[in-house]
Amino acid sequence: MIEPSKLTAVECTNLIQNKEVSVTEITKIFLERSKEINLDINSLITICEDSALKQAEEIDNNFEEYKNKPLLGVPISVKDVISTKNIKTTAGSKILSNYIPPYDAFVVKKLVDAGAIIISKSNCDEFAMGSSNETSFFGPCLNPWDFNTVPGGSSGGSAASVASSQNLISIGSDTGGSIRQPASLCGIVGMKPTYGSVSRSGLIAFGSSLDQIGPFAKNVQDCEKLFYSIAGHDPKDLTSSKNVLESFKDLDSLKGIKIGICNDISDQGISEGVKKVFEDSVDTMKNLGAELDEISIDYIKESLPVYYLTAPSEASSNLNRYDGIKYGYSDQNGKTSWDTIDLTRSNFGDEVKRRILLGTFALSSGYYDEYYGKAQKIRGLIINSFNEAFNKFDLIISPTSPITAFKLGSQINDPLLMYQNDICTMPANIAGIPAISIPCGLSNKLPVGLQIMGPNFSEGKIFSVAKLIEDNMSLNMLDGVKA
Ligand code: GLN
Repeated sequence: MIEPSKLTAVECTNLIQNKEVSVTEITKIFLERSKEINLDINSLITICEDSALKQAEEIDNNFEEYKNKPLLGVPISVKDVISTKNIKTTAGSKILSNYIPPYDAFVVKKLVDAGAIIISKSNCDEFAMGSSNETSFFGPCLNPWDFNTVPGGSSGGSAASVASSQNLISIGSDTGGSIRQPASLCGIVGMKPTYGSVSRSGLIAFGSSLDQIGPFAKNVQDCEKLFYSIAGHDPKDLTSSKNVLESFKDLDSLKGIKIGICNDISDQGISEGVKKVFEDSVDTMKNLGAELDEISIDYIKESLPVYYLTAPSEASSNLNRYDGIKYGYSDQNGKTSWDTIDLTRSNFGDEVKRRILLGTFALSSGYYDEYYGKAQKIRGLIINSFNEAFNKFDLIISPTSPITAFKLGSQINDPLLMYQNDICTMPANIAGIPAISIPCGLSNKLPVGLQIMGPNFSEGKIFSVAKLIEDNMSLNMLDGVKA
């Protein structure tokens, strides 16, 4: 008898390889569970029953061909900002609510090649703008740990669907924290890879110089497997790296590993509860033999203003294409094409409109040097400070989110308060470096995440260190999930 909440992706593949269960059987179990739990938490925008069963049947019928695939038969949900051929891809927006892409994103092709079964498209903030999943046109997603709280955002549906075992893994996008912050709030593992290590082609663009696609899973091993399945060069993305990514050796201690505790992040509005759990995880690392010291990273405190000039500026340009003329929703009740553009674009939600206004202003002539241009100069300084820090330390740590899952509705009318949720995660996007969030304990019965950042292309080392820390904390995190 398969119990979805007890199963990992690696175990799922093993069961299928040993012919203890077929891919079709696994797919049906998770489809049924998705349908049921989705009614409670609204984590999914589309459940792709027919295409998932077709994909499963294809594998079962050609088992010999597929049997060694790394994600053989693993049910996955894909954030609804990632294009899936012939499957609705809405970006959580009214503007794309009926949009069916004619092609698959590069990562989706990689997932299918790896044998994963795409069973659903997950809920998210509109165009990935938000930290609570409350800006979605399809309604908020709830946190499976406590239905009165948010799952984080913008990839809230991805994190919530993994935490409630509607699927075993998921992929999301992270522009300022949208994988790591919801992973932290839902008690699972999430990673933002090095900028350029995972192709962005087929990702609905938000802030192109910051956006990165990355994995969610219940544990580090599954997360690592998923990462290596989606990473790799793609000629269709000009920022895609040709570096060959290699896994790092398994570790049995952290001896010789130097870890910096990023004070500039760790003292910014972090709640007492989160601080306490974070300090306990520092003790775990010390006990494992790591050398820990505090580190200050110059200019990192400017990350929030740098982010909120860079991301909205790039978004205002990227979202220009939704004009009711090329594709997507179109309101043709006006008389001229200008009326169509006007009427159509008034259907963006408030947060998206706010970003477009901010970005258009920051890019306008006379203000460009003062705002976008200056933000890029400071961005360069932040990158230099990280480079210097990584001359002294292998890895840098901080809490992932300053607070645990917060009450639905408690921040949505206060954008500046909402923006603070990514204070710990944004620096990694600004610098382009990889960062993971792993669960490290509970505060008031809600999960807390530990963030581990490393230099460019150090994913292998990050995964190895994270696995050892995870093993030594033996938390059984998901026992607290209500859904
Ligand atoms: N919460 C941040 C924002 O609203 C980050 C979003 C993201 O990473 N996609 O911009």
